[in-house]
Amino acid sequence: MTTRRERALGALIGLAVGDALGMPTQGLSRERIRSTVGPVTRLLPAPPDHPIAAGLPAGSVTDDTEQALLLADLLIEGAGRVDPGRFAVRLADWEDRMRERGSLDLLGPSTRKAVQAVLEGVPPELAGTTGTTNGAAMRIAPVGIATACDDLPALVDRVEEACLVSHATSVAIAGAAAVAAAVSAGVEGQPLHVAVALAIRAAREGVQRGTWVAGADVGARIAWVLERSARGEPGSTVPEIVALVGTSLATQESVPAAFAMLALHPDDPWAACCEAAGLGGDTDTIAAMAGAIGGAVHGPAAFPADAVSTVLAVNALDLERRADALLALR
Ligand SMILES: [Mg+2]
Repeated sequence: MTTRRERALGALIGLAVGDALGMPTQGLSRERIRSTVGPVTRLLPAPPDHPIAAGLPAGSVTDDTEQALLLADLLIEGAGRVDPGRFAVRLADWEDRMRERGSLDLLGPSTRKAVQAVLEGVPPELAGTTGTTNGAAMRIAPVGIATACDDLPALVDRVEEACLVSHATSVAIAGAAAVAAAVSAGVEGQPLHVAVALAIRAAREGVQRGTWVAGADVGARIAWVLERSARGEPGSTVPEIVALVGTSLATQESVPAAFAMLALHPDDPWAACCEAAGLGGDTDTIAAMAGAIGGAVHGPAAFPADAVSTVLAVNALDLERRADALLALR
């Protein structure tokens, strides 16, 4: 049995551990990961020739964790609400700090475009109307911790608010709603299959929000990966997920891929994150989303203690304070 506090902390720890597992493989092809790293079974440093992460030691997190914590702090300061203009300024400040540190891990395409627009005077509520990539889903876990899931439209309202400035589109809100709902259900103490069923309902609610854009249906794809994962072995299912769902930074690829990793390893979120890190493509974000959901369902003890302590130490993360403050908003 886990406590609600453990599950809230587990969501943040799972997010960070998954992100760190995927850090050295992010953006690489599945074939290249297999030939240079092999199966990912532990935290690894970035390869010296990695285009974004070169030089980062094992356990380093990336933009997924950093922006999720930025959103967490904004929620805590705002008593559960996100001011979109302030969010844009914080994201711009974050990117400036990353640049000063010499990092190449900067804002993603949707967030960059939206933040730039806000800084140029576009009203925040108009800046995110074309953002469809997975930046909203990758950083949404704190909304799931801070918001109960018994009123699903109200939860999706909070998700929509957090998406507004950069990802105010049907597909991005659907993906973020799925992740937030699954995290919220996990924090509530629900088992994985209940959390995932709620995620599908949340995606169907979320896709009704924001500016409609064409794209595969996130909820339908999650339902499909569940069915496919239940029928097959990981050895045959994973290549099929890679080929037919995809692992790019498109929300409708990476979010269902994260749910597929959980479906293949329902009792072991660490294994789900390791599998995600070897997929190729947006591995850090897929592993971060799977880790956040799996951590919320199973608590921090589901991850190896040495990996957790490495990730907390390497990045000097204070996750306990955030977990407590987010739970207080719930
Ligand atoms: Mg990242």
